[in-house]
Amino acid sequence: KKWVYTFGDGAAEGRASDIATLGGKGAHLAEMASLGLPVPPGLTIISEACARYHQGGRCLPEDLKLQVTSGISGMEAITGCKFGSGSQPLLLSVRSGARASMPGMMDTVLNLGLNDETVQALAQNSGDARFAWDSYRRFIQMYADVVMGLDHEIFEEILEDEKGRLGHEYDTEISASEWQHIVSLYKGLIEEELGDPFPQDTQVQLWGAIGAVFASWMNPRAVTYRHLHNIPGDWGTAVNVQAMVFGNLGSSSATGVAFTRNPSTGEKELYGEFLVNAQGEDVVAGIRTPQSITEEARIASGSDKPSMEKLMPEAFSEFISICGQLETHYRDMQDMEFTIERGKLWMLQTRSGKRTTRAAMKIAVDLVEEGLITTDEAICRIEPSSLDQLLHPTIDPSIERPIIGSGLPASPGAASGEIVFTSEEAVSAKAEGRRVILVRMETSPEDIHGMHAAEGILTTRGGMTSHAAVVARGMGIPCVSGAGSMRVDIRSGVLVGMGCMLKKGDIITIDGSSGRVMRGEVPMTQPALSGDFGKLMKWADSTRRMKVRTNADTPADARAARSFGAEGIGLCRTEHMFFEGDRIQVMREMILAEHEEGRRAALDQLLPMQRQDFTKLFSIMHGLPVTIRLLDPPLHEFLPKTDGEIVEVAAAMGMSQTLFRHRLDALHEFNPMLGHRGCRLAISYPEIAEMQARAIFEAAVEAARQTGSPVVPEIMVPLVGLRSELDYVRAVIDRVAAAVAEETGVTLEYLTGTMIELPRAALRAHVIAEAAEFFSFGTNDLTQTTFGISRDDAARFIETYQRKGIIERDPFISLDFDGVGELIRIAADRGRQTRPELKLGICGEHGGDPASINFCEDAGLDYVSCSPFRVPIARLSAAQATL
Ligand code: ADP
Ligand code: MG
Ligand code: MG
Repeated sequence: KKWVYTFGDGAAEGRASDIATLGGKGAHLAEMASLGLPVPPGLTIISEACARYHQGGRCLPEDLKLQVTSGISGMEAITGCKFGSGSQPLLLSVRSGARASMPGMMDTVLNLGLNDETVQALAQNSGDARFAWDSYRRFIQMYADVVMGLDHEIFEEILEDEKGRLGHEYDTEISASEWQHIVSLYKGLIEEELGDPFPQDTQVQLWGAIGAVFASWMNPRAVTYRHLHNIPGDWGTAVNVQAMVFGNLGSSSATGVAFTRNPSTGEKELYGEFLVNAQGEDVVAGIRTPQSITEEARIASGSDKPSMEKLMPEAFSEFISICGQLETHYRDMQDMEFTIERGKLWMLQTRSGKRTTRAAMKIAVDLVEEGLITTDEAICRIEPSSLDQLLHPTIDPSIERPIIGSGLPASPGAASGEIVFTSEEAVSAKAEGRRVILVRMETSPEDIHGMHAAEGILTTRGGMTSHAAVVARGMGIPCVSGAGSMRVDIRSGVLVGMGCMLKKGDIITIDGSSGRVMRGEVPMTQPALSGDFGKLMKWADSTRRMKVRTNADTPADARAARSFGAEGIGLCRTEHMFFEGDRIQVMREMILAEHEEGRRAALDQLLPMQRQDFTKLFSIMHGLPVTIRLLDPPLHEFLPKTDGEIVEVAAAMGMSQTLFRHRLDALHEFNPMLGHRGCRLAISYPEIAEMQARAIFEAAVEAARQTGSPVVPEIMVPLVGLRSELDYVRAVIDRVAAAVAEETGVTLEYLTGTMIELPRAALRAHVIAEAAEFFSFGTNDLTQTTFGISRDDAARFIETYQRKGIIERDPFISLDFDGVGELIRIAADRGRQTRPELKLGICGEHGGDPASINFCEDAGLDYVSCSPFRVPIARLSAAQATL
């Protein structure tokens, strides 16, 4: 079995397309090597070995070990160094690298292969003893943390103590012999803590590190991250073992990270940071403030520290040309890690860079215009649900802002909330429905939960590529990072800003687009959706087959949806209209009336109100199709609940309290969602359907007159299971239509249809279609009735089901393709057999879910309907579904 793929010296056994086996890092290292880019030689152990490691009691197969050994011989041949001995020791990095990037979730060990002997050789060979001992202490600290499970803090304490004792402020002031002493303290500490010495055998070191990387796949924060990002646990991680290059070899050495374009705005400009005389994670960890790569960026930031362009012009220009080469090769923006060792540039990683949605839009559109990708590819480059980010509010620029601090604009959008200082507080506040801003010195992977729960994140340390910044951008949460003028004191629970001292619970506003921090809540505005967004949406619109409608109950919803590009209303729930103002009172009178006569009297009052609602909706939609659903919920939902309300309503209706309570009891149902609701109401009380139909037709006549566009209302009968039910209600509707035509002299075109939300209706679709001109799949109820799971009670156990692997996804969020989906296909096929022109749509929550929309495309539906804010998501998803 081939467990190991090697790369280096202009060649590689793997390729970029081998991500599933080699992981992202390994596949792209291989690709870069075969492109002839300067990549230190190395090998990748395939991710399948990770599963073997965990199944096999943390052991690895013998042939794998042999392949690693021979891979290392290859690296020795290329570098001329020898692992574990000799005058030129080969040092290794052992790096995790899964199929999906999990930034900072898993472990890496650098400088492996150092021991008391090789450190001397390294000092000799490099001519820099300080560097050798600095590398050794880094290695011990990392190895102890990752492999031996000793917290790195205890090493930091020793280091701080020693610096204090020696009177040094910065690490850079520590001399070779002082580092050597610190190394001996580190080793002493390990032996004291664990009873075992730090391993001197480099083979032990190597296999310890490889095992630890495999083990780190299962560490709790990695498990949480996978859960949040839907990454399957059985993928496993690959391990990369690579020759070290050194960014900490003096002032002509450096390490850095960069994006080929700005990941925040998408602007075509190199964007990154580097640190002179530093190694690996120093940049990300935010220990020192990094320097700009380009001169232009340095000037823009106002920094007086020289740029890489100035400091290392040769490495810089090589780097710029590699950036261009990688972008053209991958046809996408790249996120890279590099190290410069004594002036020589080495590439250590490249991948498609994470970016904000705004940047993703701009980059996709620019790449089309640069001729690198097609419009179809551009459409597929945007994750539809990420469009949510664009709808984030921004601070109203006309508002006077009480600024109390500022940092880097790390993730765009603005947010207000109460200050919390820990992730635990953020999580529990969120559970109570409170909005919080997580304020930290810096964040670490342990904070993922809290970051997820927060509206925004503020850190006082770290750069644009710090953990907080990267994760917040990925989550689409506003973030201001490195607000150095502010100070957090977690212990006393205060945030000190310009001229103020704030406590936990105080409200602040952060603006992740400008980096500003403000006291209190600041008014915000919605961004205009134009420019790149408009272009991309136009491409999507001309690609998709399905129409996108909206679920809208109010004029405000309808207007918002139109501005997001909705092409009609797929579901107007009339009951929502009855909760407004004093209408509920009339509604209650209608429901509680003892006879038809009383009901009609109340309905007469409701008629003009409904007519007005519908006229507005029709006018706003200006001739686009509007589907109106007849009254659906069980009547008791409208009734007074508290004693106080009961007394009040009874008095208003002039009913005795005893009689009133009797009527309430009579309306009580044991299982209302399966009770007296939907078309069952219209059959018991046809006068309700009559009133609604009349309101719809009269409004259609009125709106057509006002707007000059003909209105073709679509009347939808809910919860039909029997054709005879639909026949009955349809007859009421047709009768009213004829009457209104007679009265107004206008003969209206209209459609009558039904929701398919009961399995019986789906199965009998061919018969029901004889009486229906359209079907709309009410997948919320259809999921409920297919599973026999109450929507309102599902939350109690669906999570448990997911955790225990009984179901993968919540069927109320993402359509159950196998069961509910099968019913949809059956209904669509049978319905169209009877009536080929039958219009088919979906109006459940799923209408805005990308995976479900993809299913709808396959099932041949004509349109999806979703909430207004999801309309852009649905437009893009519907386009992707056709590609
Ligand atoms: P992560 O996935 O967390 O970014 P990496 O494996 O990329 O972890 O490594 C962490 C850090 O170590 C990075 O900054 C990287 O540049 C550095 N590093 C990794 N391998 C080498 C190497 N061979 N030589 C020098 N630095 C390295
Ligand atoms: Mg990396
Ligand atoms: Mg329903």
